[in-house]
Amino acid sequence: AQLAAALQRFGRSAPPRASADRPAVTLADLKAALDAGQVKPYFQPKVDVRTGVVKGVEALARWLHPQLGTIAPDLFIPMAEQGGLIHELTLSIAEQSCAQAARWNRHGLRLSVAVNLSPLLLDADTFVGEASTLLEHHALAAEQVVWEITESSVVANLGAALGTLARLRLKGFGLSIDDYGTGFSSMQQLARIPFTELKIDRSFVSGASDRHHLRVILQSALDMANRLNLVTVAEGVETIEDWRLLQDFGCALGQGYLIARPMPGDDLPTWLRQHTQH
Ligand code: C2E
Ligand code: CA
Ligand code: CA
Ligand code: CA
Repeated sequence: AQLAAALQRFGRSAPPRASADRPAVTLADLKAALDAGQVKPYFQPKVDVRTGVVKGVEALARWLHPQLGTIAPDLFIPMAEQGGLIHELTLSIAEQSCAQAARWNRHGLRLSVAVNLSPLLLDADTFVGEASTLLEHHALAAEQVVWEITESSVVANLGAALGTLARLRLKGFGLSIDDYGTGFSSMQQLARIPFTELKIDRSFVSGASDRHHLRVILQSALDMANRLNLVTVAEGVETIEDWRLLQDFGCALGQGYLIARPMPGDDLPTWLRQHTQH
């Protein structure tokens, strides 16, 4: 009941029910999958819009189910949140992402890794310590790890969010406002939290080049974030026209299917070689 109340506070609804494209899986299945290492991060590049250089990656959770194939996070993240598994899942994704970043480092590839943080973790007082321990295990600098938190979840619980996020920032982690533009918050609220990055929601990016009102919103959000010295990221870049627009508007980083889909960590070096050859 406590969890349900917390979820309601963050505006989350019940997990979607099973259907043709939503396999019927249970919380017990998810727990077993976590224990068996079948929930893994895939990585999507974050690319410098001017130079095309890959600066970092976002870790996106995938459930690699032996019978059902790949299950998308929209199905099992809400399930983990409601069933009390989100803490364990987040630490597992973060752990695997840090291990991957450390492997890339050893091959001379220094990329920042961004991990999505559920609002429920902002209430957990052990989380900041656990996050720091991960760094020590993998000899990573905190600057190489970014936590992405959705705009809506932060403002729904500003008090608790502020404490945890300030402590993460003090440790040196990067903090990113995810899905910016969908949370109806004011910059005055967001500015109370020491964010380092702002990610503009896909709904303002995909197709902005031929939709006047999207373009205006995109440009003003980028202007504001740049003036606040936040790293600007556009998600959901799908066309070359949208990419050019981001160049014109001074967006720092772009992410989307135009560049690459999320991929297993071991595929990234090969993808990078092919991608930078031309
Ligand atoms: P998000 O954090 O906003 O992640 C971006 C989503 O957009 C990802 O979907 C990504 O694959 C997709 N995407 C990337 N580029 C494009 C594009 O050009 N076009 C379109 N149409 N989509 C694009 P994905 O991987 O299915 O993840 C969905 C959501 O699940 C994420 O949204 C995030 O909120 C959540 N999520 C994923 N992994 C985790 C995790 O480890 N922890 C938590 N708490 N949430 C996660
Ligand atoms: Ca994200
Ligand atoms: Ca997002
Ligand atoms: Ca999202």
